[in-house]
Amino acid sequence: MSAPLFQAVRGMNDILPDEHLYFSFIKKVVRHRCRQAGFRRITTPVMENVELFQRGLGDATDIVEKEMFVFTSNSGKRMALRPEGTAGVVRSYLQNGMQQLPQPVELYYIEPFFRYSRPQKGRFRQFHQFGFEVIGENDPALDAQVIYLAHRINQDLGVADKLQLQINTIGCKECRGAYREALVNYYIGKERSLCGDCKNRLNRNPLRLLDCKVEDCRILASIAPKFENSICDKCKAFHALVLEYLDAFQIPYVKNPQLVRGLDYYTNTVFEFWSRKEGAQNATGGGGRYDGLVELMGGQPTPGVGYAAGIERTIEYMKESGIRAPSKDKVHVFVAQLGLPAKKRAMTLIPKLRELGIYTLGAIGKASMKAQMGLADKFKAQYAIIMGQIEVQEEKAIIRDMTKGSQEIIPYDTVIEVLEKKLGRDKLETHRLWEE
Ligand SMILES: [Zn+2]
Ligand SMILES: [Zn+2]
Repeated sequence: MSAPLFQAVRGMNDILPDEHLYFSFIKKVVRHRCRQAGFRRITTPVMENVELFQRGLGDATDIVEKEMFVFTSNSGKRMALRPEGTAGVVRSYLQNGMQQLPQPVELYYIEPFFRYSRPQKGRFRQFHQFGFEVIGENDPALDAQVIYLAHRINQDLGVADKLQLQINTIGCKECRGAYREALVNYYIGKERSLCGDCKNRLNRNPLRLLDCKVEDCRILASIAPKFENSICDKCKAFHALVLEYLDAFQIPYVKNPQLVRGLDYYTNTVFEFWSRKEGAQNATGGGGRYDGLVELMGGQPTPGVGYAAGIERTIEYMKESGIRAPSKDKVHVFVAQLGLPAKKRAMTLIPKLRELGIYTLGAIGKASMKAQMGLADKFKAQYAIIMGQIEVQEEKAIIRDMTKGSQEIIPYDTVIEVLEKKLGRDKLETHRLWEE
């Protein structure tokens, strides 16, 4: 078979129907959680003047230096396909006078973005991100809330326990300036051991040297001056509070002094969600505070904090974790279980029900009963089958009518029969195509 005449542009992919199940699921979760948290949706154009990104992200960043799709429009203006979301949202905030609204302004987006980087696993030239921004107030509680929202969404998507929150502070303009100087001084005379990228970055963006993945650079970075020796009291107190609030939310984190994020606009808090598995460069998302950005773009000094996550990468984590995106079909039954014997039962019961045309979902992970029932609710399951240690011992199961909120205990070996009766056997599609 010869190759088709046309192929999608390198690094850009079709989203096929099966993939859309995941996209839809993630969008739903993001919309639900963001709305619930008081965020409102914003969409900015895919194209902006190139200066917006040069200014906002910084000239000495990988994105601006080599990863933007830049071109000249018909009228000779330099344009770029947006490589990230925050710069455009902040531009819109200023252009549309959102400073006049009650602050902070809380916005979220779910959009395609574009980067001219080498296509590789989970990294495409057109990719999708969801993200949120809190603009107009400077309070460590907001940083913690943004992280909490990100974490909550990870939980809903079933990937939270695969990920680990890495957090750091890079301080304010003043103390970071002092630190940059200390870093540059430290690297004097060591330039020859640095990789090409780091040599280039040394005077323009020395913080980036700390997160270089090249072995020699990493060794030098590990003994470089520490930011904790330069940080000012104000930034120190701010960071301590962010961590305190995270403790209050019971979100585990790892303090990572080497985490700097690539962009110029960050101040104080920076964070990323990393895979718990060994191996670097596998963050699903990250963000931080950007108190200098609005001013950089010509507005009054206005603080902000935000987060963005890659949807394609998140989907990869979901698939790796065996999480199936629910389809739009009506969910008949949610199977909830607690304890190993009940889990085993659930694992065999779920496929049996599905084969009978009963659209069944179940949480086979370690989620609490409350979390599982929350999922049953969210998926609008008509019934829930609930099994714990006692039910298994007594060969019973609880069947709960999710709309009425009533429940009864039935013998385990009648579960299928009872469900078929309640759902109406003739209404179930069995999809046994091989029998036709
Ligand atoms: Zn400071
Ligand atoms: Zn390097």
